[in-house]
Amino acid sequence: MPLPALEPDTKAYWEACRAGRLAMMRCQACRWIIHPPRPVCSRCRSRDVKLEDLSGRATVVTYTVNHQRWMPGLEVPYVIGVVGLAEQRGLRLTTNLVEVAPEDVKIGMPVRVRFREMSDEIALPVFAPDASPPPAVERTPERPRVTDTDVVLAHPPRRVDATEWLERRAILSGVGQSQIGRRLFRTDMDLTAEAALKAIADAGLAPDDIDGIAAYPGAMGGAPAGFAGPGIVEVQDALGLSVNWHLAGVEGPAQISPVIHASLAVAAGLARHVLVYRTVSEATAAADTGRLGIGAGSRHMTGFGAFLIPYGAMSAANWIACMAVRHMHEFGTRREHLGAIALAARKHAALNPAAIYRDPMTMDDYLAARMVTWPFGLFDCDAPCDGSTAVIVSTADVARDLPRPAVRINAVGTAMRSRPSWDQWEDLTTMASRDAARQLWSRTDLTPRDVDVAQIYDGFSFLTLAWIEALGFCKHGEGGPFVSDGRLELGGALPLNTWGGQLSGGRLHGFGFLAEAIRQLRGECGERQVRDCEVAVVANGGGPVAGCMLLTR
Ligand code: ZN
Repeated sequence: MPLPALEPDTKAYWEACRAGRLAMMRCQACRWIIHPPRPVCSRCRSRDVKLEDLSGRATVVTYTVNHQRWMPGLEVPYVIGVVGLAEQRGLRLTTNLVEVAPEDVKIGMPVRVRFREMSDEIALPVFAPDASPPPAVERTPERPRVTDTDVVLAHPPRRVDATEWLERRAILSGVGQSQIGRRLFRTDMDLTAEAALKAIADAGLAPDDIDGIAAYPGAMGGAPAGFAGPGIVEVQDALGLSVNWHLAGVEGPAQISPVIHASLAVAAGLARHVLVYRTVSEATAAADTGRLGIGAGSRHMTGFGAFLIPYGAMSAANWIACMAVRHMHEFGTRREHLGAIALAARKHAALNPAAIYRDPMTMDDYLAARMVTWPFGLFDCDAPCDGSTAVIVSTADVARDLPRPAVRINAVGTAMRSRPSWDQWEDLTTMASRDAARQLWSRTDLTPRDVDVAQIYDGFSFLTLAWIEALGFCKHGEGGPFVSDGRLELGGALPLNTWGGQLSGGRLHGFGFLAEAIRQLRGECGERQVRDCEVAVVANGGGPVAGCMLLTR
């Protein structure tokens, strides 16, 4: 198992664990407990912080039972839990729940820390049921709850009085996709060049017209094989481009962030025509190894991964499953609700010749699929594929000169108001999508009722349900019943992921949704065309990562 690296800010925490003590950084000014350990208090910003012992008592906030072998030799199943520590509301650890059968784990169960020796340096804090009366603990004073879901929803972002939102000065003028498939054994650059040249031609432009380039994530050290695609420096050079503006990076409002940034660069006059692309070759990369977890093959984990991976929480599937289980607990959401999202996607994929999985699927097929991490079975997880998607973001003043109808950017959403963390996010039944969506609606006169087609991220089925609630198509907590009854299918009230989504169309990592939204608004989707399609929402990301755009014809 990959173990935590001893980093300067985390060394004392892990040394205490190795000595059999659960101890965390505590602010000496306001008593706030800071985790992961950092040398500054996020509540009062004091830098007077000190490691202090905690009681080791906690309750189970949520959990998932993992069945997937994320690396060779991994023994399954095991329980990944998120526990809330007794000393401070919202202070959590991702951990393993031990000395309890998976079927006996309950949310709210009192637990107590144990230490699992892993090496001379590392003992991991894990938790076992313990119903004995807890000792009195020093509770941290409450932090102002400005990021609680109820408060956020009651106080939408204030409308800024602008004569024009700058993203409206940009349009999407072109779209192109490479061949899409399983194990194409083509290089990332080959796929990217195909998509980019198609997108440029689709916009009625020549490569020499392109004066900007952006991508997600761009060149990325340590990326899993097949994930990152070629960096913008490589692509600029390969295509012989001369650019006025260029940007790539993995941090930001999800995979769609380079499109949002490009629209602002165009509005600022930094560029007129920006090539934006996302390329994956994860199916070819997994041909020899199968789908591995994050950190598989590594010895030491740094950053946030140090607090997740060593417990076998080696995939976003595990982290997001924990959120789904909490949603099920609070709102009665069921697997059949998640299944409705997967089934709608599969039905639509049958109408898309480029989709990966096109065979019909029933609810029984869905429920009978092998379990990955409760409540996610195989069909709750997107299908790795190879492919590249490129779009051209242009200045709106060229809209009338285009060979095809311009797709207008009406509004964008990028906000992030809670802790940007998979397990410390305050309300685990919501995600950063809550904040990005709220901001999007604050920048437009359109409303959720105006949306004709929704292209919403479905790396895991539950992400879509969380986005549907976040975007206000239904109330918080009512996503389960809402997605049922055929509402998401073509002809329904909210046609969703009409290309098959990533669940059936293939994991193009965000950009498949954007490509389909453009084609739907142009009326180019043939059998799967939504009639009179004028407004599309595109949403990317999940957990503490989210970005969205509202597009119009
Ligand atoms: Zn403080």
